Amino acid sequence: MTIEQLKQDVRNVPDFPKKGIQFKDITTIIDKPEDLRFMIDRLTEMYRDKGITKVVGIESRGFIMAPALAVNLGAGFVPIRKHGKLPYETIEVSYEKEYGLDTIQIHKDALSPDDIVLIHDDILATGGSMLAAVELVRKLGVKHIYVNCLIELIGLNGQQFLAKHGIETECLMGIEVDE
Ligand code: AMP
Repeated sequence: MTIEQLKQDVRNVPDFPKKGIQFKDITTIIDKPEDLRFMIDRLTEMYRDKGITKVVGIESRGFIMAPALAVNLGAGFVPIRKHGKLPYETIEVSYEKEYGLDTIQIHKDALSPDDIVLIHDDILATGGSMLAAVELVRKLGVKHIYVNCLIELIGLNGQQFLAKHGIETECLMGIEVDE
């Protein structure tokens, strides 16, 4: 198994959820045992020696890999969810999406300043969602944050956008946005 083979298995769905979007469908890489194992093994290797105490997944496709990764790293799993979904007291960050504002939340006691946090999502596009997630985690006083995605959409400059905010991002693979 190689990254190239894995990339071949990502399904591109044109015009979903609306015209002009090339949707990268990861259901075709998580349903294959060898792809799933490969991704989890690679992610575990990348973060094994970092002392990660919490893996934070971003709703909703960030929830797929993050708990398995947390188990391998001996860390806990923490969800960042869309507004109104978490039951206990939350803090939130709002950010600009294509149409209007989006708000994400985290439980206010989910992380503490001494945590070493890995934030994970499936896809890095413009980087807006990830920046909001990092801001949310920073609000809880966390100093040590790693950022990871399965797929970076090349051409949208998400990594550069995040770098401007002092955030270094690592992705498992890059796929051309129009590929
Ligand atoms: P962004 O905030 O622009 O970086 O968008 C990232 C979020 O939107 C991630 O949670 C992705 O799951 C989703 N997303 C954005 N573009 C795509 C795409 N072309 N295919 C699949 N998911 C996408």
